[in-house]
Amino acid sequence: MSDQVGVITWISGPVVRARGSRHIGMLELVEVGEEHLVGEVIGLDGDIITAQVYEETSGMQTGAPIFGTGLPLSVELGPGLIQSIYDGVQRPLPLIEQATGSFISRGARFDPISREKRWKYTSKVKVGDEVKGGTILGIAMETDTFEHRVMVHPDDAGTITWVASDGEYTVTEPIARLKVGKQEKELIMLQRWPVRRQRPFVRRLGHSIPLITGQRILDTFFPVAKGGAAGIPGPFGSGKTVTQHSIAKWADAQVIVYIGCGERGNEMTEVLQEFPHLVDPRTDRPLMERTVLIANTSNMPVAAREASIYTGITIAEYYRDMGYSVALMADSTSRWAEALREVSGRRAGYVENLNGTEGSVSIVGAVSPPGGDFSEPVTQHTKRFIRCFWALDKSLASARHFPAINWLDSYSEYIEDVADWWREKVGKDWLAMRNRAMELLSEENRLSQIVKLVGPDALPYAERMVLETTRLIREAILQQNATDPVDAYSPVEKQIRMLELVLHFHERGMNIIRRGAPISVIHDLSVVDTLIRMKSNVANDELSKFEDIQKAIDEQMSQLDAEYR
Ligand code: ADP
Repeated sequence: MSDQVGVITWISGPVVRARGSRHIGMLELVEVGEEHLVGEVIGLDGDIITAQVYEETSGMQTGAPIFGTGLPLSVELGPGLIQSIYDGVQRPLPLIEQATGSFISRGARFDPISREKRWKYTSKVKVGDEVKGGTILGIAMETDTFEHRVMVHPDDAGTITWVASDGEYTVTEPIARLKVGKQEKELIMLQRWPVRRQRPFVRRLGHSIPLITGQRILDTFFPVAKGGAAGIPGPFGSGKTVTQHSIAKWADAQVIVYIGCGERGNEMTEVLQEFPHLVDPRTDRPLMERTVLIANTSNMPVAAREASIYTGITIAEYYRDMGYSVALMADSTSRWAEALREVSGRRAGYVENLNGTEGSVSIVGAVSPPGGDFSEPVTQHTKRFIRCFWALDKSLASARHFPAINWLDSYSEYIEDVADWWREKVGKDWLAMRNRAMELLSEENRLSQIVKLVGPDALPYAERMVLETTRLIREAILQQNATDPVDAYSPVEKQIRMLELVLHFHERGMNIIRRGAPISVIHDLSVVDTLIRMKSNVANDELSKFEDIQKAIDEQMSQLDAEYR
């Protein structure tokens, strides 16, 4: 419990100073004022304590008490996290809302994880087993289908002396007993972990596996690795929300930790209105059944948003430790860029866990540059910690080219890392095809400058052939409609086959042009339209239809071959 450790002498917004009366640690969790507001020690100088308060301090006066807890800022971990909606310091928003109306009242206290709820639990260890940090003790069914792997706390190790019979337990009822040296200790499902401390793992396993999102512009052109970090900067209305939702729904991550932020008044954030209604397309169940939502409300101090990144990453690491692939998505603002940078650099990763499983935390951070200007500091800062940059572009959005991700401004530094995965798992030379398409797109960019000056007719046919193909790359491949039932998700086998066909069309068309055929004969081929429509005409489970399209290309091109011999 908390003891008074000092008296407040100075208050400036969310930062307070106190004259201390006993030892207190740096980054210790403190409770400030009679209302016991949540705070963290951020400075110690002699007997002067400086604390950051994560709640509104208005009305607080000097002379008020400050209490120490002896603990660092921590989160509760255990079954019940999934489907929860928390604020930045893990207070359950729905409970607070019920109790106090539409915004968080100060000093409100609720358990982050229910003490009453019972979980169907099956033990995976037996008496006499030697266990250590990370060992899976048993499975609690966190939803109808989601297995919560209850693990030994990373700091514990010993011999199991008793296990609970399979049944239903709350998070505070004993599920096993552990003998550590001469002492015995009861293990429960509920654990705590300090948010500033990275959870341990055995080793990093590199970035060789892509996080598959089903979005062609991402997977085929600018892939992020599992355990990697990507940034999506985008001005208002450019498709940040749609892109983030598509990734949350479709990415091959079993758990989503989504950190959102509200900017206006006392209202709950947009994310609170939207996310709980999203449907998981693979199960037709609410996406919340594999999501932990963290929402910063605008009446909380900015510092609480920084804390929310640490709360989120700790929860993400906990599920990673179970052997899951986790995607952490943050709808960022300038103030948390520093926290995002720290966690992306040090705590994202694809790792071998203490229990031998493999898990990953991938990070996708959206930023909203003021006025859509990517040269401003937040975007520039973000670029320093991510290795994959998906540049949303207002003018593409206005032209209804969706996803409005600019292929010339975007980049991925994971391309070389994941090339072997494509070769081995998909059996295609993705790297060569992807680079060829990018080459054509930058050629298009160069040619379009000329077209702007003198019109397309001035270009030689070979260059106009490039423009025919790049139109196909843009319209048939890059454009992807998030609301089309077939096109919303493209399996990698489909993505690569589409690219292969467009490049095949290009090679054959180029041969004919070189023999002196006018560009109009290529432009008028009926297969052009077939290619543009293949994304929604070829269902994801009938990819053999691509053979017919290839045949159509070959037949129509062969006919031209014969004509221009
Ligand atoms: P932002 O969050 O950047 O303000 P949104 O994600 O709300 O922008 O996107 C604005 C609009 O753009 C959406 O309402 C939708 O009509 C359109 N849009 C964006 N991305 C797509 C997409 N992939 N497919 C279809 N429409 C899209």
